[in-house]
Amino acid sequence: MEKGNSPDERLRPDSGSTRADSLDLASVWDCRHVANLAASFRIPGMPFLDEKLETLTPAAIRIVQREKLYAMLDAILPDNAFYQKKLQGIDPELAAADWSKLPFTTRAEIQADQAANPPFGTNLSFPLNDYVRFHQTSGSAGVPMRWLDRPCDWAWWHRLWHTIYRAAGVMQTDRFVFPFSFGPFIGFWAGFESAVSMGNLSLPAGGMTTTARLKFLLDNAVTVIGCTPTYALRMAEVARNEGIDLPASSVRALFVAGEPGGSIPAVRAAMESGWGARVFDHSGMTELGPYAFECLESPGGLHVNESEFIAEIRDPASGEIRQDGAGELVLTNLGRWGAPLIRYRTGDHVHLRRELCTCRRHFARLDGGILGRIDDMIVIRGNNVFPTAIEAILREFSEIAEFRLEVTDARAMSELKIVIEPTPSAETKSLLAGVTAAIRDRLSFRPIVEFVKPGTLPRFEMKARRLLRKPSNDGAN
Ligand SMILES: [Zn+2]
Repeated sequence: MEKGNSPDERLRPDSGSTRADSLDLASVWDCRHVANLAASFRIPGMPFLDEKLETLTPAAIRIVQREKLYAMLDAILPDNAFYQKKLQGIDPELAAADWSKLPFTTRAEIQADQAANPPFGTNLSFPLNDYVRFHQTSGSAGVPMRWLDRPCDWAWWHRLWHTIYRAAGVMQTDRFVFPFSFGPFIGFWAGFESAVSMGNLSLPAGGMTTTARLKFLLDNAVTVIGCTPTYALRMAEVARNEGIDLPASSVRALFVAGEPGGSIPAVRAAMESGWGARVFDHSGMTELGPYAFECLESPGGLHVNESEFIAEIRDPASGEIRQDGAGELVLTNLGRWGAPLIRYRTGDHVHLRRELCTCRRHFARLDGGILGRIDDMIVIRGNNVFPTAIEAILREFSEIAEFRLEVTDARAMSELKIVIEPTPSAETKSLLAGVTAAIRDRLSFRPIVEFVKPGTLPRFEMKARRLLRKPSNDGAN
């Protein structure tokens, strides 16, 4: 065995290794010790995982990003065939100093690469045997993408989730439940395992009915829930129907992810009143990582963790890149070297603002969270409308139990029908008048509304599918 190869030797910082070896050491160190990392930072009431890193000035953040990007490019380019091809002739040092020279990466490129090189594609920087975790996207935006992680990439996920939990004031005494059937979707695996590695008792709650899950979380005096906004509302609805007083329970916080609802005021208000708990919105993507979180101090928006991601805004019309404002969010992750993404076009429409937050972070803020998927945008009478904007209005009406948006696309014009399932006691005539007036006033079009009987529309445990797009001619699916 070569000198420096045994794990113990490699972990000793002063083992006389060369500079190249010490780069390698960093990842080994991370893998072995990240589980204990949070415990070492555990100061009651401390809302940071790494206060120094999270409160850097914008100029210092940029230096951290540049150094991490350089280290990443240097580490991945020797063996990552996908980026070798895309970044041919690019000097890592120059690219890290000015990343606007790097090309974008798109979902379509990754999908095409995985189709041409099944099953995992060529965006792998290390030998396949190094990878231990498999996840895939839900496929709501087309063909599912497969994503692999090495132990140290997964440790990076944990560290980022620890940041999210700390920013929300999670304490050691908090007890988590994840009312979710664990499958290949990444979100709640990472949330669950990171709560465990932070030292919090964490209960899986897959394979149960909603009623059984409610009983389970009450019986076990759970304080924190992790689920989609849709399912948080569904659980509150079932609790109401069954006479369970959720606001009187020990639950004090809901971490919601997977959909935009957590930062939509009316959805948020419905969750918070239904549970008597504070909502913390979160945004992450299987292919990118958990990139944004809500701090305790400023509800209704998300901080991008800029010590681990570079955020840019792309104007959808001109393609121009900006540092803030409204447009498509473009992200580069800096710590998932096994399968990185450089200038990835997320397809999410956001409004990004840069200013110091009351939580003392300079991290960019996405006002109102994720405002919608660019692909889901509907053009109605010349207006660009996101389904989330319609949801924001519909959720203000407590007489609406569930809804669906049916869009018929015809040339540049779309027709939208809003299918509403009212609560059993709702008075549909006044509900119709209220919804029509609110949409006309705030979104400038008159909607077609159809009511269906209570219990007709589907309920969802994971991401809801409330948008139905139909072709222009026959209206068939
Ligand atoms: Zn903040």
